[in-house]
Amino acid sequence: MLPPGSTIGIIGGGQLGRMLAIAAAQLGYRCHVYDPHDAPCAVEVAAEFTRGSFDDAAAIARFATACDVVTYEFENPPTEPLEPLGDTLRPSTRSLTVAQDRSVEKRFLDAAGVTIAPWAEVDDAAGLEAAIATLGLPLLLKTRRFGYDGKGQAWVRSRDDAATALATLGGRPAVAERGMQFDAEFSVVVARSDDGSSVTWPVSRNIHEGGILRRSEVPPGAAIEAQLAEATNVAATLAGRLGHVGVMTVEFFACADGPVVNEIAPRVHNSGHWTIEGAKTSQFEQHIRAICGLPLRDTALVATAVQMDNLIGADVDQWSALIADPSAHVHLYNKGEARPGRKMGHVTRVR
Ligand code: AMP
Repeated sequence: MLPPGSTIGIIGGGQLGRMLAIAAAQLGYRCHVYDPHDAPCAVEVAAEFTRGSFDDAAAIARFATACDVVTYEFENPPTEPLEPLGDTLRPSTRSLTVAQDRSVEKRFLDAAGVTIAPWAEVDDAAGLEAAIATLGLPLLLKTRRFGYDGKGQAWVRSRDDAATALATLGGRPAVAERGMQFDAEFSVVVARSDDGSSVTWPVSRNIHEGGILRRSEVPPGAAIEAQLAEATNVAATLAGRLGHVGVMTVEFFACADGPVVNEIAPRVHNSGHWTIEGAKTSQFEQHIRAICGLPLRDTALVATAVQMDNLIGADVDQWSALIADPSAHVHLYNKGEARPGRKMGHVTRVR
């Protein structure tokens, strides 16, 4: 167990890093944030900040020597500069390698025997034509790398959409997935410790708008509840196969025939923000516990229902009304400019 006063390095300084640093401080740890930006929002709640590029292996090596353990709060740091960190990096680069590339991720999921949407690699017009022939229409074209919040994606509903969809992706290597019919979307957040034990939280239903999570609701409703045992088991199995240490999230579609895995996020997740007030232990505290070798805690719900709403872009302008609302737990990330689509904060209501 890392003793209090130890330093946790966090690669990435966004709101997830900010909430990890707040949880770490509660347990007596110091956080050192590494990020290329001027003033990322995690820095103001951390003990130290190194400004550096995610590709700068020498700077990352220096940063790591100042830390007792290093973690990451987003899935896209290049893995090469992180390889030399070995067991100091938790979770390891294996979780990143799998989650960074949709093709590698789908091969991993297929090998694990879990159900995913039928898919094919697509690099050009001929590849898309072949994918349409084998997968049928509609299908969703997604860039293999660097997609988030629905970015880097284009629907192909008829053959006429093919050229536009390829142009939207700008010629980047892609995968095509069969368009799935589902009743709802949900995610299982799982924490795994280095002794191999794992725990999951109660599951939220996730409601997206324009590809961005708008709301999470617990309990998630009957369609999802019927699939929870299987989905929870899938999430724990995947965490085990990755040898993941820390929190990770598996996103699912609740389809008529059972849960279908959409993707893995090797980190704390927006759909788990409700756990700060709504569960006995938050995803952020649990991640810190897992990477520092502390025992994992109970994840049970502390209420009958929890709802988390994101404050996206100009939503944050309502902050004064929300602060005055006695039912609202308000979280503001202090990210500066409220650009459209930018996650500026969230509000949790517990009943
Ligand atoms: P992703 O970036 O993969 O999480 O996709 C963003 C959103 O697109 C998901 O939350 C779904 O609402 C939708 N989506 C992704 N993949 C599929 C699919 N194969 N079929 C239908 N909808 C999808």
